[in-house]
Amino acid sequence: MEGCYNDDEPFIYRLNDNGSGPSLLVKICAERGWRMYQGYSGNEDRWNLWWRTSAFPSACYKTLGDWQFMNHIPKGGSICRKDGLSRLLRCMRRIYGSIYDFSPPCYHLPLEYAKLVSEFSRLRRSEDETASNVVWIHKPVAQSQGRGIFLFRSICEMRCGSSAVVQRYIERPLLIAGYKFDLRLYVCVPGYRPLTAYMYAEGLARFGTDKYTLTDIHNPYRHLTNSSLNKSGPRYAECKDRIGSGCKWTLKQVRRALIGRWGAAEWLVWQRIRALVTLTLLAQAAGTPPARNCFEFYGFDVLLDDSLKPWLIEVNLSPALGADCEADVTVKQPMLHELFDLLGLPMKHTGLSLLQGQNHVNIHSYCSEDEGGISRPATASSATVRRGTRWRRRRPMPIHCVTLPPSTVGCDSEKATDTSETTKELNIGQLSMSSPESSDNSDVQSTPSVAITSSDSVDESWKGGYATAASRRRMLSACSWGNGVQWHRATGRMGQWVRIYPHTVSGDDQLPMEDARESVAQVSKFLRAAREVVREGARDTRGPRDAARDAAFEVALRKKLEYRNNFEVWLPPF
Ligand code: ADP
Repeated sequence: MEGCYNDDEPFIYRLNDNGSGPSLLVKICAERGWRMYQGYSGNEDRWNLWWRTSAFPSACYKTLGDWQFMNHIPKGGSICRKDGLSRLLRCMRRIYGSIYDFSPPCYHLPLEYAKLVSEFSRLRRSEDETASNVVWIHKPVAQSQGRGIFLFRSICEMRCGSSAVVQRYIERPLLIAGYKFDLRLYVCVPGYRPLTAYMYAEGLARFGTDKYTLTDIHNPYRHLTNSSLNKSGPRYAECKDRIGSGCKWTLKQVRRALIGRWGAAEWLVWQRIRALVTLTLLAQAAGTPPARNCFEFYGFDVLLDDSLKPWLIEVNLSPALGADCEADVTVKQPMLHELFDLLGLPMKHTGLSLLQGQNHVNIHSYCSEDEGGISRPATASSATVRRGTRWRRRRPMPIHCVTLPPSTVGCDSEKATDTSETTKELNIGQLSMSSPESSDNSDVQSTPSVAITSSDSVDESWKGGYATAASRRRMLSACSWGNGVQWHRATGRMGQWVRIYPHTVSGDDQLPMEDARESVAQVSKFLRAAREVVREGARDTRGPRDAARDAAFEVALRKKLEYRNNFEVWLPPF
């Protein structure tokens, strides 16, 4: 199998297990000059990017070459099941307190049925009339797109079936022109050990298509904001008051709607959302082993209440990549291009020829420890790795070649942004609006069949942290991808992808400390500083407004946090 890859062959992408996938993704890959994988019927492993809607079997990570990338991280989906998410957040709340108070109280059925019943009787006994009239939402754990969801007030109305969560319903959501909406935020995690996370500045708002009211809790078009559901609603195509036809806006449109009504407080919402996303990721970071050349691309769903508090509703493992409407195309098309730029996936060819002669470390940091838990040193002999029963010579470690040379990936965000400009100049053709075979328009959560349990033998030897020199080496190795991208020197911004964690990077070979307590403390400090910035800004009635105010707040926030360089403020476009 030696010499299986020619240096500059086309970059090959592979979709699911049969070649079907979101049409938008196919279009973006074609625009990048990538070629579709042809080996679905055989055992061909000539591919560079494998994009799968559901999680990968753990064996796939063990045979990953330097030139290969996958869109899921081992154990990266624990936050994507409704029950898993609530368990993790509950646990973090117990340890770190009210900073984790951003998820509605939740009961797991059937396990916590008795607890739920006693909560109902406590509320019924309450003097407060509103407490006894509380609304709850029942959601099957392994479903998506609003399937199987219903609202109820009395426990007698609850229909029990498969595993589900019952959550306190956010009864007073923020409305625009009387319509409920939630926010879809795109998050990319190229590594959990240590955590590196980016959030895309643009995103979507998804509206219910009937006006919101609590007097009718059984009409899904008033209460559920899933676009897959509202698309088939009777008023979807109607031109609705302020919202227009359809059910989606971009975050930019939401900002404009909020800014007039909320002034400076609107800026704080986005900072609170950033903190919420980071804290959620931190909740599962400790449970994921170090892994290279793989990333997670999540869809976070956040609901704002009428006091502008953000609530986390759920996290999707494979957010829908359909292009149903203008807002979808405006947001998702550049987002995918910039995602691949961020990950250092080249524009056309594998780019391996540029990487000849580079020294490299062991790609198989994730699974190739010696028995004693010590990584093999990065020597020339490690260029030969075991792939199933065959041995294959590995190519020299690619530097971050065609899109991002390593120096760019480090700290020079200006150059990095230039690359994305190149992407934008692409001649983008007509979008195919539907693809019958693909699951474009549906989000995917971790389902029981793909959920990765702690008993999986993904990486049993991994004990975590920096406890030993071997584990430090493995963490460092996990940060250095086969294409030369080094996540411990992660760029602050790539196009509209903004690094939300770590807040700053040192730019040298130092790994950030991996201490959950320290990380949560940093987020808490960040939130305090953001609140102060807004408080002080609101007092200054003669201060700048709108876009100029964003810039002034950014300067003030940096100053308060004493982050000299490399810190980026995440904010949707205005
Ligand atoms: P699914 O995975 O089926 O989409 P979600 O948890 O996202 O399930 O819920 C679907 C929709 O229901 C959300 O988009 C939101 O509009 C609404 N929703 C879910 N949970 C709550 C809640 N606790 N309070 C208010 N609305 C909620």
